[in-house]
Amino acid sequence: MRISILGLEDERFKRPLQLIANLFFEESQISCAKMEESEVQINFTLEVKENVSVSAKLQDKIGNVFKSNYQKEMVPFDSEKERFKQIKNAVAHVYLTVLQEWTGITQKWGILTGIRPTKLLHRKVQEGIPLALAHQQLKDDYLITDEKIELMQHIVERQLTAVPDLYSLQKEVSIYIGIPFCPTKCAYCTFPAYAINGRQGSVDSFLGGLHYEMRKIGEWLKEKGVRITTVYFGGGTPTSITAGEMDMLYEEMYTSFPDVKHIREITVEAGRPDTITPEKLDVLKKWNIDRISINPQSYTQETLKAIGRHHTVDETIDKYHLAREMGMNNINMDLIIGLPGEGIPEFAHSLAETEKLMPESLTVHTLSFKRASEMTKNKEKYKVAERDEVEKMMELAQEWTNEHGYVPYYLYRQKNILGNLENVGYAVPNQESIYNIMIMEEQQTIIGLGCGAASKFIEPDTGKITHFANPKDPKTYNDSFKAYTEDKIKILDELFSKKGSPA
Ligand code: SF4
Repeated sequence: MRISILGLEDERFKRPLQLIANLFFEESQISCAKMEESEVQINFTLEVKENVSVSAKLQDKIGNVFKSNYQKEMVPFDSEKERFKQIKNAVAHVYLTVLQEWTGITQKWGILTGIRPTKLLHRKVQEGIPLALAHQQLKDDYLITDEKIELMQHIVERQLTAVPDLYSLQKEVSIYIGIPFCPTKCAYCTFPAYAINGRQGSVDSFLGGLHYEMRKIGEWLKEKGVRITTVYFGGGTPTSITAGEMDMLYEEMYTSFPDVKHIREITVEAGRPDTITPEKLDVLKKWNIDRISINPQSYTQETLKAIGRHHTVDETIDKYHLAREMGMNNINMDLIIGLPGEGIPEFAHSLAETEKLMPESLTVHTLSFKRASEMTKNKEKYKVAERDEVEKMMELAQEWTNEHGYVPYYLYRQKNILGNLENVGYAVPNQESIYNIMIMEEQQTIIGLGCGAASKFIEPDTGKITHFANPKDPKTYNDSFKAYTEDKIKILDELFSKKGSPA
């Protein structure tokens, strides 16, 4: 789809308008000048005074015309960035409206293209805006549908029940530990995940670096009296290292980190069932780690084969039972909607199998075509369901979880996600993952250790986020982990020594 945009000279409009076009069309090209070959042309008029007033007129090749106008008072702003954001949102408003009318497609998330919609509602709650007004603002300003506003409201309520002090946890931090190895690489994956076989040498040196980081960051936390809210071992698959290596890592955690006994939650991703053994479960138990994730993704064997997950459906089920028998009492399972070759029958089958296991939480992802994945590079090889069917599968997940006592407690969206939907974490009440809430709502600093681990440093007063990423590949990590640790400590020193700082 080629779209000519006229009347908006500022180059900064191009990207947000492109992102919104991507919600409607698989391939789209936007030009802020008249394109000879364009299928559709949209003329804008824009005026910014005390109000931002904008109108859009869409005209297609066969003469259909759709128009939209919008006006909103400009609220005081501190920077040009904030000023432009208000104008951009108004432009997006009319742009989305004419595209919706022209295509007949309603975007349930309205003009939002970001990852964390629930943050918007949290902000309004924190500002003390009454709920009815907050909901109305989400509808008027962003064109979010009632259905999604209701979902956001449920999630915000659940989060504040699970973590009543969510808005005052800036004094503490959470820790993410990235272990970049997996038995094999899945086709949709863009995480730092290296096949573990034949790389034992680099596993050893990687773990050496990780132990160093844990020690140094632990020292800093102890010295400053900063507590840890949650720890999350992800990757990769943190259970792809040996039981002995896991044992040493958790021992390091208990020795180096402050007050581990009072950490609210420690999770270890055991995503690939082929990595789970009785010895490893024993180690988890030994260190009081009882929240793990075992991820079926699908219960259809052909699908697992097609996406490069070299384990069987039976293995998922067996390892789930083994984990249960060995004392794991908070198990999460992930499913993915829209995997290649899957439609409603396959997804309904996955839900029926989940019913036999009843994990404490179920995270339902919608397949996204991430740019660097094998699946995206060879898109024609992987046939996926149409938008309507994907939506129906999502509805099925909502109904099923509701009927089985699960409630939604976090959500996030991704670019190029099928049907412009979302990923939703459901949990039996009081079994929600606190770490997932922390990472989504960005209310406290998360320190990332290990390969590909992203740190997010949050300024308590302004909520300003500083991102910092460790290298993704083990080789670079091994060469530079000391420097990365020092850099993080510098940022932490600065953050925790500011006036009104968390400490
Ligand atoms: S198991 Fe997870 S991290 Fe590993 S390759 Fe598959 S999707 Fe990526």
